[in-house]
Amino acid sequence: MLAQRGDYIYLRSEQGPALRASVLQPFHASAPQHPLELIPPPLPESLSPGDRVELVGSPLVVSPFLQMSWSAFHRLSSGELPPPINTGDRNPAALACDHLTLKGSVLWHNPATAPGTMDQLALDSGGSIVHAEILRAAGGGASTSDPIDYFYPGDLVEATGVLFPAETGSPLTLMVHSRQDLRRLAAAVALRRLSPTAWRWITGLGSGLTAALAGAWWLQRQVRQRTKALAMSNATLREEVSVREKAEADLARALAQERDLSELKNRFVSMVSHEFRTPLGITMSAVELLQHYEDRLPPQEKAQLFEDIHSATKNMAGLMEEVLLLGRVDAGKLGFKPTPLDLEAFGNKLTDEALSATNRRCSITWMAENDLSGAHADESLLRYIFTNLLGNGVKYSPAGAAVYFRARREGSMAVFSVQDSGIGIPEEDLPLLFEAFHRASNVDTIPGTGLGLVISKRCVELHRGSIQVNSKTGEGTTFTVRIPAWD
Ligand code: ADP
Repeated sequence: MLAQRGDYIYLRSEQGPALRASVLQPFHASAPQHPLELIPPPLPESLSPGDRVELVGSPLVVSPFLQMSWSAFHRLSSGELPPPINTGDRNPAALACDHLTLKGSVLWHNPATAPGTMDQLALDSGGSIVHAEILRAAGGGASTSDPIDYFYPGDLVEATGVLFPAETGSPLTLMVHSRQDLRRLAAAVALRRLSPTAWRWITGLGSGLTAALAGAWWLQRQVRQRTKALAMSNATLREEVSVREKAEADLARALAQERDLSELKNRFVSMVSHEFRTPLGITMSAVELLQHYEDRLPPQEKAQLFEDIHSATKNMAGLMEEVLLLGRVDAGKLGFKPTPLDLEAFGNKLTDEALSATNRRCSITWMAENDLSGAHADESLLRYIFTNLLGNGVKYSPAGAAVYFRARREGSMAVFSVQDSGIGIPEEDLPLLFEAFHRASNVDTIPGTGLGLVISKRCVELHRGSIQVNSKTGEGTTFTVRIPAWD
């Protein structure tokens, strides 16, 4: 235990740091006429500086020094004050609550004027103002006249005592036990000629100034603390705003996805109702005619009706196939399996297949523009891509028009193009071309699902390639596909 002052006891713990503790004591009724008024009893008097005590309490604040509240003390033994800590050039404020020795230059000295009063000294130490209170003058009594006992402003002194932390409106206070704990290290020179009485006046003013400075220091500290608290709440607010912004962005994304899905569903329903109704109607009327008039119908007409039924059901099967294929692509069921592939032979074969699938409505010319040997590619992915592009080239061109299917090697890339001179694609439809079920505004009655290009694009991407379109309405369209085919 170092000291007892006000409602607090100051201690240096065996673990090192000093601390301040308030005492746990039962309240008691103050006076019989006010039975409900409870006042805390005085602090225990049995403790004296140097005693070893055991303390049980709850930590209240740990910065700038440890504070305990409602502590219970148990005196273990008596002893000497622990050796003071030398503050050296450090600011003593950081060692508040402890027993220490500090150096400082005297700002003013107010010697005790009568027995029982205290010597008071203001020091500037390591950047803090320290108010030293000397409990006993040298020799046991107050000494006012002895000029040796008087400290002049500017004197460098060393003082040992218990340092109490600064409180609202008052500076750090050093409780010095006796004048022996106060040593002049160096004397100020010029100002010493003033008489002690003049100094007493000056120190009177000085103590006022010290109080004002302490008040200003305290205010400044309050402002700093408030600024820090404001900065912290500002940071918390900013964090909350960013969390909210993220939640809003997530919500907007989810809504956009839902809108896209609903749009997709609408386009699917409209495609199905449109593209299935026509072949279904053709099939039903052909079947009815055959049911009712089979005997009377000439053989050619009968054959035509069977052909209508066949091509309408083939059409519907094709539509279903495309929908199912897109489902397989989206489910990741189409893999990328490159194998050695003779691209020239592949182009030839695919051209023949496209010609027969379109009943040779248009001419299709295959051209390998340079050496394509030694390529590696996934044949089934390329088949999906170019069957669709060649089919479109024919479908969206007038009968008899020419469609060109070209390929060339550019470094490690195979560059394919499918060029037609058909109806072309309006500019406003180009950005939406690879969206499911989207069909350009100029398709008129040409049948289609709006799925072929989506599937083609996914296949190109599986092949780590790219697809590009160039088109002008009324002039024609060219699709260019680039895929890596050589290492
Ligand atoms: P589909 O041809 O079954 O409608 P696609 O996905 O293959 O579906 O094509 C999407 C749309 O792109 C077509 O509906 C059409 O409007 C347009 N398109 C595609 N290829 C061509 C082409 N070669 N010429 C003109 N328009 C085309």
